[in-house]
Amino acid sequence: MEENKNTPRPNGKRRFSFYWIYVILTVVLFALYFSGRDNVEKKDIDMGQLIEMLKSGEVSKIELVNQETADIYLDKEKEPRYSYRIGSLERFEEKVEKVQEDAGITEPVYINHVEHKNWGLEFLLTWILPIVFFVGIWMLFMRGMGRGGMGGGQIFNIGKSKAQLFDKDSVPVNVTFKDVAGLEEAKVEIMEIVDFLKNPEKYTRLGGKIPKGVLLVGPPGTGKTLLAKSVAGEANVPFFSISGSDFVEMFVGVGASRVRDLFNNAKQKAPCIIFIDEIDAIGRARGKNPINGGNDERESTLNQLLTEMDGFGTNSGVIVLAATNRADILDKALMRAGRFDRQIYVELPDLNGRKEIFEVHMRNLKLDTDVSRDFLAKQTPGFSGADIANVCNEAALMAARKGKDVIGKQDFMDAIDRIIGGLEKKNKIITADEKKVIAFHEAGHATTSWLLQYAHPLVKVTIVPRGKSLGAAWYLPEERQITTKEQLYHEMIATMGGRAAEQVVFGQISTGALSDLEKVTKQAFAMVTYYGLDEEIGNLSYYDSTGQQDYALTKPYSEKTAETIDKQVSKLVEQAYQEALEILSKHRDGLSQLAQKLIDKEVIFSDDLEAIFGKRPWGTSSEDQGETHSNLEDTNALNQENHEG
Ligand code: ADP
Ligand code: MG
Ligand code: ZN
Repeated sequence: MEENKNTPRPNGKRRFSFYWIYVILTVVLFALYFSGRDNVEKKDIDMGQLIEMLKSGEVSKIELVNQETADIYLDKEKEPRYSYRIGSLERFEEKVEKVQEDAGITEPVYINHVEHKNWGLEFLLTWILPIVFFVGIWMLFMRGMGRGGMGGGQIFNIGKSKAQLFDKDSVPVNVTFKDVAGLEEAKVEIMEIVDFLKNPEKYTRLGGKIPKGVLLVGPPGTGKTLLAKSVAGEANVPFFSISGSDFVEMFVGVGASRVRDLFNNAKQKAPCIIFIDEIDAIGRARGKNPINGGNDERESTLNQLLTEMDGFGTNSGVIVLAATNRADILDKALMRAGRFDRQIYVELPDLNGRKEIFEVHMRNLKLDTDVSRDFLAKQTPGFSGADIANVCNEAALMAARKGKDVIGKQDFMDAIDRIIGGLEKKNKIITADEKKVIAFHEAGHATTSWLLQYAHPLVKVTIVPRGKSLGAAWYLPEERQITTKEQLYHEMIATMGGRAAEQVVFGQISTGALSDLEKVTKQAFAMVTYYGLDEEIGNLSYYDSTGQQDYALTKPYSEKTAETIDKQVSKLVEQAYQEALEILSKHRDGLSQLAQKLIDKEVIFSDDLEAIFGKRPWGTSSEDQGETHSNLEDTNALNQENHEG
């Protein structure tokens, strides 16, 4: 990446280009090369001509230069007129002698050996070449440090940030929101941030603080980088773009100084946005591995970033946008208030999202009439935006290979097959059977929680895989200070609803309920041993609020009580399971409808449940749930359940 041309050099000096070294060297070399050559044009002759000359006695002198070429001097001339390249030295000498003898020349010429040194060449080989060699090596080295940076000027700029700047005077960005399909919530949030930058008073008037940092989080290929680029196109504010790995060099201190430089540049251009892609390259949690001292450089880079983010005022008009696939490995300090305190989740696209992504990427393709975006979206569950872009490109190539004028449905199907092949290796693909099981499992949770008075009503269920989990459901937890036994019990039933649905529908259960079982077991254990909610154990709590007891070694109850606890916990869970089975058997039809809807749409909302089971008569009304749709992406506000596959 070239250092951005729009940043004026602070001292206004022209950068000394190392390309001049090449120019000077070339000139010197040429000069030396030609200086080593004789100035007079000599004519090359062959042996026959030489013999003729010798016979006629014109030749006055033969000079054998470097035992290679014979310079022939005629009469009394100062400069040689002709030259002859000899083959073998002895044969040449013999021949010259013999020819003259035969011709009976009285004053034969003898061969005069001389050595003409080509000083230029010699100088070149012994002095210039090694210098050129070392300079070359050195420049390669420097360039390597600058990682692809152009021009030898890198050495003076190694501490400068390599951020690319997009603003109205520079190259216009050709990506806009139109190129980003779906991700509506993310777009809205990002535009809000741009609005912060443009009208800060509107927000600060009431004493509010503008966020300093926004983190885009999500699996690879979901369009985070694309989204950020489109912001550069949409925002109309200067946009510095840099990748986390651009900070990292093999020299200590370089990363930190680049961070400093970047923020200095940004402050001069405020209001503006700094975008750091793949921030995990520098933002990885510090000090996990104390033995490995090699991380010092990355840590100091990260520290500098934190310092800069703390350093500039909230209202200084610089907002840092960052993207990562790995929010889990980021240093917690980055997420603290005043840094990346906003997070935008970018998830894998659902059915509708995939359709829109197909639409975006098909804009420039010549399609046959049989190509249906709906159909293709259905064929590509679990695909990311990047995978879909790949499918479109692959299909175009396949059609071209076959010499077609338009891309047909079959080309797309072949492309999908090919890309699934790659994805299967990464374990990202769910088979149709698995998808069905997951759909029924999730529908089981949704159905039971909908039909139980005290369970948290559901707001959204999806079977789009997210991270390690296969499906997910969002519930709207009521604000409760205390929870009754019944409420806890209903929640347990809903948690068992997933496995129960598998049992009811398929007559067999799977490992997909691992996290459900973990949750329900902990819940039951807490009910029995902490909250005193079990008849047999009674009003006892073995909870230790001091947290000093090590229950692994000493239990505060007898062996006999331990057995009772085990028995009661398992009884409670079993009861919940039986109840779930009962509910789902009774509402088998509704369950199937819901599961089918999930298979078709991949995401369902409370409206879909209401359409099947009718309004919930109790508690939280469906209007309330309707409102929560808008902040669905804000998973912190909602209980989210993941099921590990
Ligand atoms: P990430 O940064 O999240 O890993 P990218 O933004 O680099 O993913 O996406 C890679 C490519 O995938 C993009 O250049 C684009 O072609 C395609 N893509 C991903 N998501 C979308 C989307 N929502 N809409 C359109 N294209 C997308
Ligand atoms: Mg990216
Ligand atoms: Zn489950």
